[in-house]
Amino acid sequence: MAENSNINESSDFIRDIIRADLDSGKHSTTVTRFPPEPNGYLHLGHAKSICLNFGIAEENASTGSRCHLRFDDTNPTKEETEYVDSIKEDIKWLGFDWGDHLFFASDNFEQLYEWAIHLINEGKAYVDELTADQIREYRGTLTEPGKDSPFRDRPVKESLEIFSQMRSGEFKDGEKVLRAKIDMADPNINLRDPVIYRILHAKHHRTGTDWCIYPSYDFAHGQCDAIEAITHSLCTLEFEQHRPLYDWFVENLPVPHKPRQIEFSKLQPTFTLMSKRRLIQMVEEGHVDGWDDPRMSTISGMRRRGYPPEALRSFCKTVGVTKFSGITDIALLDHAIREQLNREALRKMVVLDPIKVSITNWPGEDHSEQMNAINNPGDDSLGARKIPLSGTVFIERDDFMEDPPKKFYRLSPGSEVRLRYSYCIKCDEVIKDSDGNVTELKCTYDPLTLGKNPEGRKVRAAIHWVPFNEAISAEIRLYDRTFIVDEPGAEDDWRTVINTEALTVLKNSKLEPSLAEAIIGASYQFERKGYFCVDSKNSSIDSLVFNRTIALRDSWAKINKK
Ligand code: ATP
Ligand code: MG
Repeated sequence: MAENSNINESSDFIRDIIRADLDSGKHSTTVTRFPPEPNGYLHLGHAKSICLNFGIAEENASTGSRCHLRFDDTNPTKEETEYVDSIKEDIKWLGFDWGDHLFFASDNFEQLYEWAIHLINEGKAYVDELTADQIREYRGTLTEPGKDSPFRDRPVKESLEIFSQMRSGEFKDGEKVLRAKIDMADPNINLRDPVIYRILHAKHHRTGTDWCIYPSYDFAHGQCDAIEAITHSLCTLEFEQHRPLYDWFVENLPVPHKPRQIEFSKLQPTFTLMSKRRLIQMVEEGHVDGWDDPRMSTISGMRRRGYPPEALRSFCKTVGVTKFSGITDIALLDHAIREQLNREALRKMVVLDPIKVSITNWPGEDHSEQMNAINNPGDDSLGARKIPLSGTVFIERDDFMEDPPKKFYRLSPGSEVRLRYSYCIKCDEVIKDSDGNVTELKCTYDPLTLGKNPEGRKVRAAIHWVPFNEAISAEIRLYDRTFIVDEPGAEDDWRTVINTEALTVLKNSKLEPSLAEAIIGASYQFERKGYFCVDSKNSSIDSLVFNRTIALRDSWAKINKK
């Protein structure tokens, strides 16, 4: 599907609107924005919004389209510079670039303040002194209208004066608010005199202590869009009921541009939590080792896990953009990851859980042969490598069975198996320790089977191996689904459905020698085992750590059915 995408560029209702606006001449170009609040790390849901907003700019580049990165930093108590930096890094890693178009809502605090004064002057805003509880009480419900605050009709001059005192810090948090004066009986609760400024004596990560009043999201967002000349302001469905308010501000303020808000449905993949608030809890309560833990659905977690950015982009494209909320099968992402890694990953032989095999008829301890191993069967240009074989190797513990069932074609006493890219071996003797654990297998090899089948015998399996003397030891971390149910967010408490076995650590895995040069950021296919990458945090030259990005096939679907 992805391969054909440039032949038949997929569309959606937002792109249709944009095309129509360009065709009709309503706009000569498009300006979109991605507006994160810097109060956490970005997650997979944000990737959808990033791909949409930056994607539209790329597709319309010939008209001079652009996409802004705007930090919606109007809530000083939860925001930090660390988040700003991580968000920038994640967007770049996904393959998008805002160029010079980096903005902060906080850059507009002075302008927003002036516009608030404009509304007061026009009789369209007032300072209210009801408490937060009273405001809630007066607001009414979905079925009953609200009622007017006793301060609603206070003189303009009085509101102007108090608002200015609010700014200069004369009141405590929550003592007064500025509200737009719209209609307390409007069926849409968002239009019942929404609060547009509140007092908050908190240090802001950019403006420090310059301000002790902060604009509401609704007041700031649309006006920042207007200042930046955004043409299409794309947001998720929960803002649909806010659109009349968005439009009200744009209509009632002397803004330089009139952006249009369009809503689309959020991405909610199975087995994943998609809310920053909960992701913060996962980190702070220690369910994971930080925002970039490979079990996290954050972009940084997925990067560390080895998910290629191309796979995330292709997944977002497959999911598409609609108005229907629903859950998306995470298997679609897995599929995109496997497709991408299958194309790009170098093949390697790695034994996760080793057992020693000695070839008793090998010509001698000093005798070594170089086996030719192919780097990627789908891409000849990636070439081949040599792996030395000198009579002793590691194989996977579960590639051997002492009492095999009928259809077990791998190694067992008396049976024959091929060592991949090499000779066939036969197991003659099983050595065990005093507890009965298999510690070594004594085998013989058939020198006539290099690259061809043994005469008159059928060898049904080829198993991977690593040379004993040249093997590199490494730690390997296997990851499974982070949650045991497909909708963890729908549980009363997602903590009860955490998969406590989502991480398995193997301390004694054996790598083929070429992996000494493994680099952070590269992905490898460990033959028959899956795709792996070097851990970017805990790995060092003398102690390599690999993360399993994904297994070769989906074993979960089967387990789940049982
Ligand atoms: P969360 O609900 O996870 O806390 P948020 O919407 O509060 O996310 P913001 O930083 O405000 O996070 O989001 C930035 C942009 O990303 C917004 O335009 C928002 O609509 C969009 N976005 C957030 N979550 C999703 C999602 N699951 N699917 C698509 N877009 C999303
Ligand atoms: Mg938000």
